[in-house]
Amino acid sequence: MELLKQIPQVDKLTSDDFFIGLNQSLLNKIARDKIEILREDILSGRVEKTDNYALKEAIKTEYEELLSSSLKPLINATGVILHTNMGRSLISKEILEKVSNVICNYSNLEYNQDKGSRGERYEHVSKHFKTLLDVEDVLVVNNNAAAVFLILNTFAKEKEVVVSRGELVEIGGSFRIPDVMRQSGAVLYEVGATNKTKLEDYSNAISDNTSILMKVHQSNFTIEGFSADVDFEDIQRLAAKHGLLDYYDLGSGYVAPLPYNLSSSEHPLAKILQKSPSLISFSGDKLFGSVQAGIIVGKKEFIDVLKKNQLLRMLRVDKITLSILEETLKAYLQEEYDLIPTLKMLFFDTKILRQRAEKMQSSLKIEASEVIDTITVMGGGTLPNREFPSIALHIKGKASSLERAFRKKGVIGRIEEDKFLLDIRTVLEDKEVELLEIINEIVK
Ligand SMILES: *Cc1c(COP(=O)(O)O)cnc(C)c1O
Repeated sequence: MELLKQIPQVDKLTSDDFFIGLNQSLLNKIARDKIEILREDILSGRVEKTDNYALKEAIKTEYEELLSSSLKPLINATGVILHTNMGRSLISKEILEKVSNVICNYSNLEYNQDKGSRGERYEHVSKHFKTLLDVEDVLVVNNNAAAVFLILNTFAKEKEVVVSRGELVEIGGSFRIPDVMRQSGAVLYEVGATNKTKLEDYSNAISDNTSILMKVHQSNFTIEGFSADVDFEDIQRLAAKHGLLDYYDLGSGYVAPLPYNLSSSEHPLAKILQKSPSLISFSGDKLFGSVQAGIIVGKKEFIDVLKKNQLLRMLRVDKITLSILEETLKAYLQEEYDLIPTLKMLFFDTKILRQRAEKMQSSLKIEASEVIDTITVMGGGTLPNREFPSIALHIKGKASSLERAFRKKGVIGRIEEDKFLLDIRTVLEDKEVELLEIINEIVK
């Protein structure tokens, strides 16, 4: 096989000036793989001649791809603030700056500085949560899915959990309440019908083996028409009467009243917590607007039991999560909502959004775009079927081609009635210049 002899040696290939300044051992790793593939291709007759230049190019391309970041920023011009595919809640630069001091240094994460002894990881946010929400205690885990799992595994292993059929939801494909319940070891006891569940259905289901009466937020859909569900307060009362635990998987939870009358469809956390439920859990990065986390609040006696479950060690959160959460809580306590990007974007007045859109439009060719009123949704499995106003820059032209061209440049817009829209509500102010440059590149 003459061809095999033409395969270059790894070292010789990678010491070529073509690769000057690049890391030799990484180059060698890549080169070895490429050469191995070439050898196989020659042996199987797929390659009839070797091309050293093409080989070097391929090695360099792979090297550059490996070292370019896979996770990269995008400009979200969909108008959907809690975009599940684009990272849900954002963290503000101000908050990140404050926490960098903690996460780049050793800290008192589990160290009690007064006593010089081991401290409690979860203590750092508990005072804030207690003050903000008036709860007895709090526990933070990796995400709300983990919170659901931990609660059921702790209190309902091989015991029955009563849930309404109308609340056996699936969230974003990978999280199905009935599946998570089974995995946790809990026995699911479904009551009612898809569209109607009454308090009676819960009370009829209670047996010696019942441990929890659970309510699950429907999150990404609503049932309209001939429908009824049971208020959590009534479930709480029934649970108390029978000495059972009441638990509400709230999905998302919010603190301050929401704009655009959005608070009318569901209560803020403080209201839900008014009657001291046993346990409630919600996501840290939905409407709460902080980092990915599962926040469990409720009665101290139950949180204490959760803390003793070995599973918690697997679900525990890192200093990064805790420090960001602490800063978000401080922002809430001082009503500094501007530090919480999710809220800042939600509260943006359409008048201001219009001004921003018009300012951007003024540096474009007059016939290329128009500023229009539009509507958007919150996303992330929150506030189902609730819409609110927004403002978009309609870029004129073939919508599908524009969508693709912008997407390639890292700008994700949306198509509505064959129009390509850049919804300004989710475009960060410090990204406006970059967005304008991209628009100008595409719309010539
Ligand atoms: C979103 C959601 C979850 C999952 O929360 P994550 O923080 O994404 O793990 C669980 N239950 C409900 C009702 C939800 O809406």
